[in-house]
Amino acid sequence: MHRHRMLINGELVEAQGGAWIPVLDPSTEEIIAEVPAAGPSDVARAVEAARAAFDSGPWASSTAQERGRLLFKIAQRIRDDAAALAEIESRDCGKPIVEAEYDMQDAATCFEYYGGMATKVLGHVNPVPDNALSLSLREPVGVAGQIIPWNYPLVMAAWKLAPALAAGCTCVLKPAEQTPLTALHIAGWFEQAGFPPGVVNIVTGLGVPAGAALVAHPGTDKIAFTGSAEVGKIILKNAADNIKRVTLELGGKSPNIFFADADFEAAIDGALFGVFINQGEVCSAGSRILVERSIYSRFVEAITEKARSIRLGPPLDRATKMGPLVSREQYERVRGYQELGKKEARLTAGGNRASQFSRGFFVEPTIFADVDNSSRIAREEIFGPVAAVIPFDAERDAVRIANDTPYGLAAAVWTRDIFRALRVVKAVRAGIVWVNHMQPTYVEAPWGGYKQSGFGRELGPWGIDEYLETKQVHINLNEQPIGWYS
Ligand code: ADP
Ligand code: MG
Repeated sequence: MHRHRMLINGELVEAQGGAWIPVLDPSTEEIIAEVPAAGPSDVARAVEAARAAFDSGPWASSTAQERGRLLFKIAQRIRDDAAALAEIESRDCGKPIVEAEYDMQDAATCFEYYGGMATKVLGHVNPVPDNALSLSLREPVGVAGQIIPWNYPLVMAAWKLAPALAAGCTCVLKPAEQTPLTALHIAGWFEQAGFPPGVVNIVTGLGVPAGAALVAHPGTDKIAFTGSAEVGKIILKNAADNIKRVTLELGGKSPNIFFADADFEAAIDGALFGVFINQGEVCSAGSRILVERSIYSRFVEAITEKARSIRLGPPLDRATKMGPLVSREQYERVRGYQELGKKEARLTAGGNRASQFSRGFFVEPTIFADVDNSSRIAREEIFGPVAAVIPFDAERDAVRIANDTPYGLAAAVWTRDIFRALRVVKAVRAGIVWVNHMQPTYVEAPWGGYKQSGFGRELGPWGIDEYLETKQVHINLNEQPIGWYS
């Protein structure tokens, strides 16, 4: 079994305490690797390296062109090694290999996008009413602590590292303890590509102590977090002590709204894809399916029938459409909601462990119908393949139910009526709204939530903004003294 090392100050190292975290293949429950269990002293070393690289290393004087070229090199290596990376990702988190292959391309595209954007960060001339030149400069925030989840491990690493590095920040990335393997696989590439030591650090460890130490360390200027709302709240509080910049991409309970005039076949596909892709382990999962009453019974019947035909299987099998959940903890959590749902609503599909597998964290794609929006399965993020179907009568009911949630990450609306589609787009309080689709995600477009789904935006120009400070510069062009005290 392979022991991987983590990246601190350009070197691949073990944890100082000598502890290791086992990494499981969730389809077999076998340990496939071990990674260092970083403690506060390891995190401190990484932050100090990132601090030194930012404050006094060659990175500070690197040009935007140079940073862009380095990012292109990482992108190219990901593409060159995509097959191997996809296999590691698939084994590590249990997602179907075909999905993992898309992920690797998305990760590479993200590095390319921000590689290009490095040279497009522009300042501004402010039209002040004086004989002066007033400028706004964009400068890197500094040392970024970046904490990511286990559902899209390398994609999340790319979303965090690429914009930060393009901006000129230095990074300490902490992958999720469940899925550290792809990030560690690429860890050695940064040095080889020519990144100075300390610019990229990848520290593996548990949320507590490693993630918490990253948030607490006075040397990190910013924390970028993607994960649960519960941990997001803790991070926000702990980052307050030295006023770190914080961006949070948290959970959701996103409504997927179907009006009767939507194309029926597309709607059925869209409802299932929206909530079951990646085993439902998706922050933007369309986990509340809102359906207009006139098509409700037929709709529930159709998604139920199709859900039963979703092919579960080993992640590396190319025919597999749904793999196991990532971990025993996640499996227990989703099983708990399956049982809870049986008390709260009407089960139409799944509802149990997938019993054809003797091992692994497999659960059946599960649909509950006649769900009350105030029930727990409609309010709490499950982060697994569990759909709550809710009927509605009129557009205003759909909007009211859609917005009746603490979250606001995403939403989708399906209809052929453009007036209604756009009214709903405007009325829904969410950071991402799809019309007649759900889940397509592009590096060019902003990603992030309203309400308790967090704040800040990733991707696009918004993504790099979160790693930039703005400096106002006033250049006096009037050579005369002010004369105020004469
Ligand atoms: P989940 O419960 O689905 O695993 P989490 O929000 O707990 O999602 O985890 C997301 C990331 O946050 C992981 O990298 C995890 O290690 C990290 N994490 C968990 N708890 C903390 C914490 N208290 N402080 C900082 N990071 C944490
Ligand atoms: Mg947790």
